[in-house]
Amino acid sequence: MSQVISENIKGIQDSIGDRNCRLVAISKTKPASDIQAAYDAGLRDFGENKVQELAEKAEQLPQDIRWHMVGHLQRNKVKYIAPFIHLIHSVDSFKLLKEINKQAEKLGSTIQCLLQVHIATEDTKFGYSSEELFDLFESEELYQLNYVHITGLMGMATFTEDREQIRDEFKSLRDVFEELKKSVPESKTVTLQELSMGMSNDYDIAMEEGSTLIRLGSTIFGARNYQ
Ligand SMILES: *Cc1c(COP(=O)(O)O)cnc(C)c1O
Repeated sequence: MSQVISENIKGIQDSIGDRNCRLVAISKTKPASDIQAAYDAGLRDFGENKVQELAEKAEQLPQDIRWHMVGHLQRNKVKYIAPFIHLIHSVDSFKLLKEINKQAEKLGSTIQCLLQVHIATEDTKFGYSSEELFDLFESEELYQLNYVHITGLMGMATFTEDREQIRDEFKSLRDVFEELKKSVPESKTVTLQELSMGMSNDYDIAMEEGSTLIRLGSTIFGARNYQ
C-alpha cells in the first residue's frame, strides 16, 4: 500500500509542477498507517473532516504534521482542535469565527482560517454567499477579532460530470477572491492569499483557475469505504 501511496503522490506533484499550489492529503476514514506512508513520501499537510478523528490521529502521528480541518465545524468542538490546528478551511459563520477567536485567545495564539463560500448548486453545502461575504468584510466587528487570521477562501464545486459547470463555479470563487483582495485592506485579522479549491475529481480544473490548496483524498489513498 505504501508503494502505491507514494507513487500517487509523485503523480500529483508532477501535475502541480511549479505552480504556487500545495497538496493537502485528506485522510478521513483512512488508518494512521496510510498517513504515515504519505508522510514518509514527504507530505506534511493532512486534512480531516471530523473533530474526533482529527484529534485522535494528531495524537498518534508525527508532531510536525500540519493538520487542516476541512469539514463542517460545530462551535462546541472548536476547543478540541484549537491547540494544534494549522488551518481551518470551513469557517461558515461569524459565530464560529468568534468561538475560534475565543479559544485562540485562551491559548495565547492565533488560528488561521479560511471562509467557506457556497459556490455549488446543491443546497447541502455550507458556506457564505458572495453577498454575505462582502458584508462580513465591511463589518467592523470582524477586525476586532485579534486571535484569528483569515488567510483566504475555500469552496467546493457541484458534484457533477459537467466540467464546464465546475470551471464556472471555481471561476466565480476566484472572482470573489480577487474582488476582495482589491477592496479589503490588509490588517492583523485579514491577509487574503489562499484559495482552497479542488478535490480528486476536479483539481486539474481548480489549479487552472488559480487554486493554492488542493484537497485530495481518494487520488492519494484510494476509494473510501463508508460503513
Ligand atoms: C473528503 C473531502 C475532500 C477529498 O475528497 P476526494 O474526492 O477523496 O479527493 C476534499 N475536501 C473536503 C471538504 C472533503 O470533505
